Amino acid sequence: MNTLTDLPVFTTDDERWAAVQARDGRADGVFWYSVASTGVYCRPSCPSRPAKRQNVRFHASCADAEAAGFRPCKRCKPNEAPLAERQAAAIGRACRLIEASETLPTLDELAEVAELSRFYFHRIFKAVTGLTPKDYAAANRARRVTDALPASESVTAAIYDAGFNSSGRFYADATGLIGMAPAKYRSGGRGEVIRFGVGQCSLGAILVAATDKGVCCILLGDEAEALVHDLQDRFPQAQLTGGEADFEQWMAQVIGFVDLPMQPLNLPLDVRGTAFQLRVWQALRDIPAGTTLSYTDLAERIGSPKAVRAVAAACAANKIAVAIPCHRVVRNDGALAGYRWGIERKRSLLALEQVAESTK
Ligand SMILES: [Zn+2]
Repeated sequence: MNTLTDLPVFTTDDERWAAVQARDGRADGVFWYSVASTGVYCRPSCPSRPAKRQNVRFHASCADAEAAGFRPCKRCKPNEAPLAERQAAAIGRACRLIEASETLPTLDELAEVAELSRFYFHRIFKAVTGLTPKDYAAANRARRVTDALPASESVTAAIYDAGFNSSGRFYADATGLIGMAPAKYRSGGRGEVIRFGVGQCSLGAILVAATDKGVCCILLGDEAEALVHDLQDRFPQAQLTGGEADFEQWMAQVIGFVDLPMQPLNLPLDVRGTAFQLRVWQALRDIPAGTTLSYTDLAERIGSPKAVRAVAAACAANKIAVAIPCHRVVRNDGALAGYRWGIERKRSLLALEQVAESTK
């Protein structure tokens, strides 16, 4: 499992001063600092020339700094939300509209609630969520269906709970969205056929499993048998079929990909998750091979800068090792943190990618 990063908390003046000197964006919104010689106050990440320590005081809020007689800095605008947050809030309004709508609102309607031009709206929506509005709407409906399934009395009730207005349309959409018909999903994959194979790759034992929609699991470990048990626990009601001849080709391709993660994996992935997990996993797939990102960066990238823990949980919930590269996420200080498939495997994968990248 990926473990949470140790986020700095900036409780002492020494920590706060260090953050100001480092222009540490993680301290923004945690405290503000004023400069007696200029009469202005700033957010910690302000790019202005650093002040002398003896002129600097720290404040718990903008109101506190203003009550002490300081004006907001014109450069870092400490009393306004950072651009990324303002954009996330604007896109958040559009997401709420999509979630509340029976059918996908028009681009004009979405741009209007976000208070952006059509052109910028589409671009910023993609940058913040990692998805197009249409894909976001599809993922959101899938989430509502899967949320409703265990609690609803019947599959039909779940369909109506999720806001689908006709069963026919639901069945047309849902099988594609959650990888199996709803009744099967509700019963832990009952009646679902999942083919799988186990083999050896450079990282140890590997298990690859697929539905007829695509690869749904890539598991890594020391022992093949433990991986098969893991698969059974994930899909207790599914019919698991091992060792078919034509599955060997899939295995070979995935093993080739794990051993050389720079190569594209030309197989469809059957990815099932909540709308939030899908956003995180899409963002993971956008991290270039051979590079890493911190959980904080990842949370910012999907437009939820405060959701660092939820982002880490979504990384840990990833079932498709390597192809959804959660191994490229590290702690804020660059340390590797944990990896659900073992820290040594994470180290090897990153080393492999860096070597391949540097010999390009
Ligand atoms: Zn400033």
